[in-house]
Amino acid sequence: MKIFKFGGASVKDAEGVKNVSMVLQSQGFEKCLLVVSAMGKTTNELEKVVEFYFKKEDYQTEIEKIKQKHIAIAEGLFSPNHVVFGEINLFFDDIVSFLRRTKSPNYNFVYDQVVSCGEMISTKIVSEYLNDNQFTNQWLDARDYIKTDDSYRDGVVNWDKTKENIETLNPFTCYVTQGFIGSDDNNFTVTLGREGSDYTGAIFAYCLNADAMTIWKDVPGVMTGDPRKFHDVTLLSHISYEEAIEMAYYGASVIHPKTLQPLQKKSIPFYVKSFLDPTREGTKVGHSDKNQSEESYILKENQTLLKISTRDFSFIAEDHMSVVFGYLSKYKIKVSLMQNSAISLALCLEDNFCNVELLNEELQKVFKTDIVKNVSLFTVRNANLENIDKFYQGKNVLLEQIAKQTFQMVTQ
Ligand code: ADP
Ligand code: ASP
Ligand code: MG
Repeated sequence: MKIFKFGGASVKDAEGVKNVSMVLQSQGFEKCLLVVSAMGKTTNELEKVVEFYFKKEDYQTEIEKIKQKHIAIAEGLFSPNHVVFGEINLFFDDIVSFLRRTKSPNYNFVYDQVVSCGEMISTKIVSEYLNDNQFTNQWLDARDYIKTDDSYRDGVVNWDKTKENIETLNPFTCYVTQGFIGSDDNNFTVTLGREGSDYTGAIFAYCLNADAMTIWKDVPGVMTGDPRKFHDVTLLSHISYEEAIEMAYYGASVIHPKTLQPLQKKSIPFYVKSFLDPTREGTKVGHSDKNQSEESYILKENQTLLKISTRDFSFIAEDHMSVVFGYLSKYKIKVSLMQNSAISLALCLEDNFCNVELLNEELQKVFKTDIVKNVSLFTVRNANLENIDKFYQGKNVLLEQIAKQTFQMVTQ
């Protein structure tokens, strides 16, 4: 079976949905499972609904705007009396009635029940459109297949149950399902973390022993840097799973970092291709003897730099580290760079759940801390170390580190 993942950019409007069928035509649609994200920036818009709901502001107007956007897309794809319009209305009625009914004070729980609707609606539209256009497919509710714990907004996959469920699928049927979502033991929706649809593709690929997985992007493939941020970047036509996982880990957002491990475990060939030019080769990720040698650049923005030192000038020792990492885990804050000296520890942090103030408060009870928000982490992979002076120009460098061929700097 083949897994295709279509992200938000590929289905942002009616033309995008039509283009999905063009891509399928060029690739063949037999034995294929499509994982589809929410349309365009719908997830951000639904996040706003949840924010307004908790602030007791007018969230209904926001829901209405998102609904009208989807209806306008559907009007570009279906005749006015098509069943899809009833289905779209039903999804939005469900969001409204859920928010009226729920008494839950748990932000992350409410977030997952609401934000997941973006994928539910987009997959209905894509599945109906493809069925109307000779790509016969079955719509699947991914939550019946991908089982997780109840870590809302950051679900941890229960691989045994998920595998058991996915193995019941018929390898000769074509399916359309949602990225980004699963469900817990009580069947409440749990999301897998922002941009998690690539990961969903990898979960299905792993459980189905897929022949290959392709993610369709608005770029020609994995490049030596994000073309939105760097000039003169070139396509990497072939990279190893290791290089891809490192790039994703350092912040190359073209691939979600959790995607690589399941694919690598089963040696499933993985392609990153352009949905605008589907016959071009793109990037192939697989096993490779050849070490990557092209210099590549990754910029991770909105990071926080936290410097921690002991109050009494004593060494930063293992017990201090264990306290710090205990809190990082408690507040779900990820460390993107770490450097320690005798009496201090510097951490570049990614704070997806806006908890860094709480972390700082806890740490200040024991340590001296210094916090700088909104810094960037710039990483150069396979850096030519003889020629790194150029990277310092015009930058206020707060921290730097070189490990093997990887050069990193935190800048303000
Ligand atoms: P989608 O959500 O539609 O699947 P994303 O927006 O998450 O797609 O990923 C595609 C984007 O990733 C590109 O538009 C590009 O700006 C960005 N990107 C970041 N790093 C790279 C890279 N090394 N090569 C190519 N694109 C990159
Ligand atoms: N729709 C989700 C997001 O925007 C998941 C994804 O697109 O991968 O984060
Ligand atoms: Mg995305």
